[in-house]
Amino acid sequence: MGSGHLSLADATTRALEAFRTLEPERVSLRDAFGRRAARAFVARAANPPFDASAMDGYAVVAADLLGATRETPITLKTLGESRAGATEGSPVERGLARRIFTGAAVPNGATAVLIQEDAETEGATIRALFAPSAGQNIRLRGSDFDVGAVLVEAYAPIHAGEIAVLASQDVASVDVVRRPTVAIVSTGDELRDIGEPARPGSIVGTNAYMLEALVRREGGIPRVFANVVDEPSAIAAAMREALTCDVVVTTGGVSVGDHDHVPRVLESLGVETVFAKVRMKPGKPVVVGLHGRTPVIGLPGNPASAMVGFELFVAPGLRRMHGHPAPFPMGRMLPLESAYTRSLGRPELARGRMVVVDGNLVVRLTGTQRSGSLTSMLNIDCLALFGGDCSEYPAGSSVFVVEMGGSGVLPVSPFEGRPELRDTPRV
Ligand code: AMP
Ligand code: MG
Repeated sequence: MGSGHLSLADATTRALEAFRTLEPERVSLRDAFGRRAARAFVARAANPPFDASAMDGYAVVAADLLGATRETPITLKTLGESRAGATEGSPVERGLARRIFTGAAVPNGATAVLIQEDAETEGATIRALFAPSAGQNIRLRGSDFDVGAVLVEAYAPIHAGEIAVLASQDVASVDVVRRPTVAIVSTGDELRDIGEPARPGSIVGTNAYMLEALVRREGGIPRVFANVVDEPSAIAAAMREALTCDVVVTTGGVSVGDHDHVPRVLESLGVETVFAKVRMKPGKPVVVGLHGRTPVIGLPGNPASAMVGFELFVAPGLRRMHGHPAPFPMGRMLPLESAYTRSLGRPELARGRMVVVDGNLVVRLTGTQRSGSLTSMLNIDCLALFGGDCSEYPAGSSVFVVEMGGSGVLPVSPFEGRPELRDTPRV
């Protein structure tokens, strides 16, 4: 096992285990949109709440119209009108028809609704040109759901449909899972913020902005810290504050350089290492730890490494914090649009986009795959896994592709059992 560093399969699995599902909080129905239900919701009221007409037409006694056709119409006297929102009114007796509109309560006695297209009106009578069967065009009380039906399962996402169903239940507020607060701490002497004057050797710290967007995407509440210099005391001070959040994500300073202090500072603050270093490229020197129940993820500073690390080791965890039962992204085999060459070594996650070419879904890799490349992160939605002893991939080669940015669909890591993760000797 060469390096002894953790495999992508084990690292993604262990990172997820560092996250727990958060407790419920009550929010207004409106604000529940995009959240997950903290518990199952059981119907208190049936839908429809009363027998209602599904069409505009005439409430009739079906038995009165047996045999009615265009050629042999049956005449009924009309009496009264049932409108949506009105009380159901007096019963419909044999031989009578009551004008009725969609959504109106079906009057007692009526057993079907004859649609108006099948009726010819003449003064206070109609000629029925059709024989509706009993129950036709009537939405029976409880036919959608009855009292006691599970309408929203625990940890189900609340989208527009769930909001409509809950509103039907007179629910003004909902118990949803609390959103995690996520501290974002960027370390590096070279970093400046947008608008700060450039110093020799300085660069804009882009990771915090990128991670803030990713945390938002996952429904977390980002708490962005000012850039921190590569001094253990400065890092420790920021970390102490960051550890009041539900999750801490840092970037930079996790490698083996003289100014890479993050792992030791984390240790000094009582963060227990879950793992450090993963056999992957980019992003090998990632650190995942736990401070009590707070996951701490130290990502490398290179932008693409930080992004890939977030997708693999943070995003599924944030989904679990919301209660998502299947927080991992989907993986599948797709053909490469163009040839790709890589140097053998650690399994590689190349950034790309799934596109349809000539009716076939293929993966289009971004040009450069260097971990410091900002452009390799533009317009991407997937990671293509290259590993094993193959370094030349002709166009059309089938490669394992993991979706980025979607919601989770798998309960276990997509990297579990992947042959691409087999170790190969470096050449
Ligand atoms: P490090 O992981 O600290 O060794 O940093 C690796 C590379 O990423 C260096 O070239 C850093 O300048 C760069 N880098 C570190 N932090 C950031 C950041 N927040 N935004 C953009 N680049 C960064
Ligand atoms: Mg650094």
